[in-house]
Amino acid sequence: MKSIESFPRLSLGIFPTPIHKLENISRLLGREVYIKRDDMTGLGLGGNKVRKLEFLLADAKAQGAEIVFTTGGAQSNHAMLTAAAAGRLGMKAILVLKKRGVTDCAGNQLLERLMGTDVRFVDTDDYADIYAEMDRIGQEMGRAYYKIPCGGSNALGALGYVDCAREIAGQGLHFDHIVCAEGSGGTMAGLALGAKLFLPGTKVHGMMVDTDPFDRITPALMRETAALLEIAPEITPEDYPLRDMCGPGYAIASEAGNAAVSLMARQEGIFLDPVYTGKAFAGLLEMAEEGVFAAEDRVLFLHSGGAGGLFAVKMELRLS
Ligand SMILES: *Cc1c(COP(=O)(O)O)cnc(C)c1O
Repeated sequence: MKSIESFPRLSLGIFPTPIHKLENISRLLGREVYIKRDDMTGLGLGGNKVRKLEFLLADAKAQGAEIVFTTGGAQSNHAMLTAAAAGRLGMKAILVLKKRGVTDCAGNQLLERLMGTDVRFVDTDDYADIYAEMDRIGQEMGRAYYKIPCGGSNALGALGYVDCAREIAGQGLHFDHIVCAEGSGGTMAGLALGAKLFLPGTKVHGMMVDTDPFDRITPALMRETAALLEIAPEITPEDYPLRDMCGPGYAIASEAGNAAVSLMARQEGIFLDPVYTGKAFAGLLEMAEEGVFAAEDRVLFLHSGGAGGLFAVKMELRLS
């Protein structure tokens, strides 16, 4: 296996991120529940994309890129963090975002305004159109450019979460289960592969917050990431259990997700977001309820960030 250190990497975040017990949630669920604070990765408002960008932007730099393009929804946390990182590295970020969703000056749009980011909206849901638009802009500008896919979810980006699994292994506690959100797949694929390599006996569960075919995307990305590391482990559906937590749609708050955001805020003083982590934590609560975890199992929830969405995505709160 090729070592993770052998890949070029920039230092953008502060690692390792803390792991700590959720005392009140543990008491409520009658089992040990811990949280991995990737909402505290140290760039922008924190979040999972920082780990991916350390590898992706190192590759962009190595290729001599002056402009870095990325895409996503109008409130993409990934796009905002790409802009934040690019600014620090003296590169120009151009965000080509889908018009659908919240485009007013709220949440991540506000943060992009503050950073003076070049944001362009395109009226399409087809990523092929978006990547073609990036090529058009890049060629028009006549400078070397680098395209980062939606969510930074290619093999190089997923390597950031293989490394996160290694980081968790070094933090001293064994976890029987890790629960994370799955939006474009890189985090889940990286963690699930990383668990096979560094966390024997740990199962990683992907809480799907979009409607893409993650049953195909996840193993494919795990295999591509493994190939980057020059290994070819056997990968079966046991290695990447998935759960549909999307609710009414991607980036549309769900009742279960909102309740989970509120529960975490009340019990632990920690804020999740309505698009990713709230729905993912709702999935953890469902699994506890259904008995997916054994009584003595220790569970780790990955807080992957997303604070921007909390201030932009409408949450119909029906809370007592
Ligand atoms: C992007 C994102 C995710 C999902 O990660 P993927 O690697 O895209 O599946 C989860 N949580 C937050 C806050 C995100 O911004």
